[in-house]
Amino acid sequence: MVNEKRLKAIIAGSGLAGLSAARILREHHDVTVYERGGPDAATGGQGIMLAPNGVKILNSMGYDPHRAGAVPILGFRMYDQKGNMLQDQDMDLKPKYGADCLGQKRSDFRDELMRLATAPSAELGIGGEPTKMVFNNAVVELDPDQGVVTLEDGSTATADVVIIADGVHSRFRTTIVGAGHEAKKTGMTCYRVAVSTEDAKKALGDLPLPDWWDPATCNNRSSMIFAGDGSPRFIVTYPLRHQTYFNLSCILQTQNSSKSATESWHAEGDRGKLLEAFGDFNEPLKRILGAATEIKVWELQDLDPLPSWVRGRAMLIGDAAHAMTPMHGQGANMSVEDAESLRLLAPGTSRADVPRLLRLAESVRRPRAKRVLEDTRKAHFEFKQGVQMDDETMDFDFGFRYDGVFEALRERERESGGGDRR
Ligand SMILES: Cc1cc2nc3c(=O)[nH]c(=O)nc-3n(C[C@H](O)[C@H](O)[C@H](O)COP(=O)(O)OP(=O)(O)OC[C@H]3O[C@@H](n4cnc5c(N)ncnc54)[C@H](O)[C@@H]3O)c2cc1C
Repeated sequence: MVNEKRLKAIIAGSGLAGLSAARILREHHDVTVYERGGPDAATGGQGIMLAPNGVKILNSMGYDPHRAGAVPILGFRMYDQKGNMLQDQDMDLKPKYGADCLGQKRSDFRDELMRLATAPSAELGIGGEPTKMVFNNAVVELDPDQGVVTLEDGSTATADVVIIADGVHSRFRTTIVGAGHEAKKTGMTCYRVAVSTEDAKKALGDLPLPDWWDPATCNNRSSMIFAGDGSPRFIVTYPLRHQTYFNLSCILQTQNSSKSATESWHAEGDRGKLLEAFGDFNEPLKRILGAATEIKVWELQDLDPLPSWVRGRAMLIGDAAHAMTPMHGQGANMSVEDAESLRLLAPGTSRADVPRLLRLAESVRRPRAKRVLEDTRKAHFEFKQGVQMDDETMDFDFGFRYDGVFEALRERERESGGGDRR
């Protein structure tokens, strides 16, 4: 029997976390997303790698990897700066973790999440109504106990549950946990670059595509190209958009800190500085970097674990709750996992039940995100020292192993001998 009782949900932010949460909640509740930017407020056209833990959840939401141009990443390579291959390893993650990693353009990923949040329910084969999207209207105030938000245009809206997905520089983190919990720079910077195969070929001229790129030899690998001279400089590459693009995340010690590279996903990177910083890398790579139509720059930041994510009927998710560097590629995956935990707001949940259920979700999500942050920090520390990765630094097992909130709760119950009735 269909239970008609639906909660009213408000989500602040239409990033990867906010849209994932919208898809989860819309099935049984009435959802409105308020976004301070326009409809194209994506996180840039560069790449994002989804891990098995995130992919499994996305699959359960009806995610269509083909629409998103997703490329399965089936192995891993290491190269030195001259282009010599040092390591080539199969990953074969699906048998062990239930899904492969996927390489995607961020904008394609967000577009597919937007479809899941807003497409007609019949198209998705689910119940409920599409999410209502309100753009160019930021949430400026929040009463987490009453579930009331004030918007930039002066209006107010009331909900049974408010999900705060407003990113690394969250305006409402303080409202939930108090002051003194800002993300901090880690001293490393990432130039975020995506280049099409067509542009790469043009730029290479008489030189062939590098073997890490050429579809005939790349073998669906993600590759790391290291400086190898003890300096913390490396480039992470992987294919995107049906292998017609490549991501190049060029990571190095911060040279010139800037406000825009700390605050905006859209800060423009200086091509000259990028080429100078990687000037001793091999010629094909430099020509490819020189061909990028868009170079974005982002100073890596992370957030110490928060003492809480929930106050009243409001919950932080995504980078607002647990910003981390991309060294283990888990930030967005954690956001998708956070969103999935909102399945605890099952059909028929009453307004009075919301605070308890948000705390239950938090009790699963917060310790897990903390552990993933710790693993990520360990890798970041070693990379920053210029230490080449070892098996311990690159142990992704904990991150990859997750099957959603209900399984996590069952596991907790098993571990506590069945006595855990939180
Ligand atoms: C270089 C780099 C590479 C990365 N690579 C990976 C990777 O390979 N895999 C991975 O899993 N993660 C990766 N990450 C992490 C990932 O990008 C983030 O974890 C993810 O984007 C966080 O999503 P979010 O929705 O929480 O925040 P955001 O994407 O920042 O979205 C926040 C949204 O909220 C809106 N907003 C802000 N304030 C308000 C307000 N007051 N009212 C309304 N709207 C508001 C913003 O406009 C924005 O649209 C990487 C990060 C970096 C820096």
